[in-house]
Amino acid sequence: MAKRILFATSEVYPLIKTGGLADVSAGLPRALQAAGHEVRVILPAYGDVIDNLEQAYSVGRFKVGDAEVELIETILPGSDVITWLVSNKKAFARSGNPYMNDDGNPWVDNAERFHLFDKAVVELAQGRAGPSWKPDLVHCNDWQTGLIPALLSLEPVRPATVFTIHNLAYQGLFDFETFQQLDLPDVFWHHETLEYFGQMSFMKGGLIYADQLTTVSPGYAEEIQTPEFGCGLDGLLGSRSDSLTGIVNGIDMVEWNPARDKHLVQVYGKLNLKQKLVNKTELCREFALPVDTGMPLIGMVGRLVNQKGIDLVLEELDQIVSIPAQLVILGSGESKYENRLREAVKSHSDRISVYIGYDEGLAHRIEAGADIFLMPSRFEPCGLNQMYSLRYGTIPVVHSIGGLADTVVTATPENIQSGIATGVTFYELDAEEMYAAIRHAVALYKNKAIWKQIQLAAMRQDFSWSKSAAEYSKLYYRAKDDAVMEVG
Ligand code: ADP
Repeated sequence: MAKRILFATSEVYPLIKTGGLADVSAGLPRALQAAGHEVRVILPAYGDVIDNLEQAYSVGRFKVGDAEVELIETILPGSDVITWLVSNKKAFARSGNPYMNDDGNPWVDNAERFHLFDKAVVELAQGRAGPSWKPDLVHCNDWQTGLIPALLSLEPVRPATVFTIHNLAYQGLFDFETFQQLDLPDVFWHHETLEYFGQMSFMKGGLIYADQLTTVSPGYAEEIQTPEFGCGLDGLLGSRSDSLTGIVNGIDMVEWNPARDKHLVQVYGKLNLKQKLVNKTELCREFALPVDTGMPLIGMVGRLVNQKGIDLVLEELDQIVSIPAQLVILGSGESKYENRLREAVKSHSDRISVYIGYDEGLAHRIEAGADIFLMPSRFEPCGLNQMYSLRYGTIPVVHSIGGLADTVVTATPENIQSGIATGVTFYELDAEEMYAAIRHAVALYKNKAIWKQIQLAAMRQDFSWSKSAAEYSKLYYRAKDDAVMEVG
């Protein structure tokens, strides 16, 4: 039976994006709607979102505590999904990143901002504000929405709740003074509720109170129940393991389609894979590297942070370029990594080129132009780039962890023989292991027949959202039963 789902998130592509959460928040609601559910996406009305809206109108005003909130309705571009923006000028009408200022520091009032957003979602979910539409289920995502399940748990009758962990490393921790300022009920200051070693944790609100928990791959669902990857919450997650499911993200198969990609100079598909080479040549030009189509070109796109293992790449740069291979990197993040990369370019200007910044089109062109895509992540809840690479016939070399292990089939002789190999994985998080995996990929690259076979196997993978949405649908019914049992 179809459900009315309120999908609460802090970012949605193309309205606002800092990472994979935005892609999921665009893809999953569309697929759920296509599967027959009635979905509303809700997010804060950040300044940049409001400035870029084409069509929007106000559908209600209401009070959340002392704050006045306006609800703005729009349609998620390229879809028929109704999207609500929670507008409060003081909290959200500022330009730039949704979470931090231009210096890279979190906005000082983040707790207040997302508390306001969460309370607004609760008011709407309970039918006490705005339009008369009431959800059967609220699907929350990451710490910014963690107070929603917690606050809904205080209601005698409420919709079911699902909380998805996209990255456990970001928990929304704030001091006790902030907790007091938010005026949350005392019951939430306890180690069995929101308190986490003397701080308030938004994330725990979701982990403890949501009827069902999900994370974005089966591998990560297992890993976060261990001390190594549990970020201090492994015990809690272990205690909820019966309600924790790993569902691999889908990708937007229209946006990320090498046969139709508007960002490419030359589109291509399985039947004319040779055309991929035009993109390689163009990419080298764009990155001001000498064009040498016989030399493997390795691509990387992502946040330049410890999680992504960029330090391992920096450690092995001299080795990688002397394979020989070329390397193009697109990313931004911690300045120490940005600076080290800039330095590396100086000493290897014919082999390495880096673009520090965020550029959606360039990310597409790297996926299309590179031969090999490198992702040596320390941990990776799901990872999207390796799925984009597979779809573009760009062979991923990945650390065998989380979603990377779940989506890439490593090129062992057996897997190659049976035609299922789609990439190369390495098991120890170690720079030399990563280098050995790159060498392995380059050796395969030199064997044209095997390389093509791996590319075609990669391009045949189905990462459509409809598959993941079907799994979420099943889970929604379980969540609903949990909520009814609790209330009853
Ligand atoms: P995470 O969410 O941990 O950052 P994911 O692989 O799940 O990593 O998703 C990252 C998304 O952000 C991908 O769509 C990727 O292409 C995009 N992305 C990351 N950095 C950049 C960048 N500098 N320019 C363009 N796109 C980027």
